[in-house]
Amino acid sequence: MKSNEQNVVEQNLLGMSQQDLEQFFSVIDEKSFRATQLMKWMHQQGVADYEQMTNLSKSLRDWLHKNATIQLPEMLNEEISTDGTRKWLLKVDDKNAVETVFIPENDRATLCVSSQAGCALDCTFCATARQGFAGNLTAAQIISQLWFAEHRLRTQFNKRRVIGNVVFMGMGEPLANFDNVVTAIRIMMDDNAYGLGKRKVTVSTSGIVPKIDKLRDELDVSLAVSLHAPNDEIRNQLVPLNRRYPIAELMQACRRFIEDKNRKHTITFEYVMLDKINDSPQNAKQLAKLIKDVPSKVNLIPFNAFPNSGFERSSDQVIEEFREILQAAGITTITRRPRGEDIAAACGQLAGDITDKVKRQRHFEKLHEREMLDYRAEVATCA
Ligand code: SAH
Repeated sequence: MKSNEQNVVEQNLLGMSQQDLEQFFSVIDEKSFRATQLMKWMHQQGVADYEQMTNLSKSLRDWLHKNATIQLPEMLNEEISTDGTRKWLLKVDDKNAVETVFIPENDRATLCVSSQAGCALDCTFCATARQGFAGNLTAAQIISQLWFAEHRLRTQFNKRRVIGNVVFMGMGEPLANFDNVVTAIRIMMDDNAYGLGKRKVTVSTSGIVPKIDKLRDELDVSLAVSLHAPNDEIRNQLVPLNRRYPIAELMQACRRFIEDKNRKHTITFEYVMLDKINDSPQNAKQLAKLIKDVPSKVNLIPFNAFPNSGFERSSDQVIEEFREILQAAGITTITRRPRGEDIAAACGQLAGDITDKVKRQRHFEKLHEREMLDYRAEVATCA
């Protein structure tokens, strides 16, 4: 190992892909297999102490002590639902904490991760939006949510592997934090780390069209789109980003995402069921017409309430009728059973504990609507 320390800045190794680590080690003339060894220690074994990494030389371990950290998230709170869902509040920096949700299912478990501290998009029916926006999470802060959950639960459940799926459906808009999300996903899929299969990682987006194309070019993952409305008139009210990227453009991006013949993908459209807002039989018929040419399925999400939301959940009967109309039109439609409601861990209820750096609420009140939209789109697209 040559000493070339002045070229290396201290960084969190947890958020480095295999390729990043190889480059990191090449600076000090270490062989590329060191990257594999380190990946396995950190992600497969859950080891964060260099002294336990017994196949690394003493001199390399000493060098790592001086030049790099493996910074783990600190758990501030854990809540366990009666249905087994767990929600953790994880401290990501001095000011902010984000929420991560573990959802056990019969055959596999899913982890719902956050990609940003808060969210800048301001969807009117979402609790995260009310918290404001404090910034992007680093790749390390994203992957550390999986690190934390997987290794904590392996010990508690006495299992070799716990998490089989990751969904980016926690706090934030993943495509607005593109590079860090992509790096974190590469680590999730790396066989030396978590080895998650291609379609076992789902990126959920409110519809940043150019980034959907970019994602298609970079990674083979599943895509979920938060559609929530069958036309622009309703969607403009629910998802303000729609004014920047209206439904027709979004549908084209969805088609492009799956047009590649090597992919057997379908898009998942998420559709929150809001009483008397988007839940009529006409809405269902319009939705069926809109998406019939896009290989897709629909997840109906009964609205999860939070204080002062101003919305109500559609009745079970209305949701079932809506589902039947879509099914009859040949669209696979499931109603997402709310999980972890008793601990406010369901979709759109994650709020974390973040400092709204852009003072969004007060700031927006003063702005003209058009400016608001440009501003949000800007925040949303500056990855
Ligand atoms: N920003 C991304 C990731 C968030 S995923 C996106 O918009 O897709 C969280 C999902 O839950 C999204 O589909 C979101 O629109 C939905 N959601 C938000 N608030 C909700 C609520 N109160 N009840 C039910 N679903 C909600």
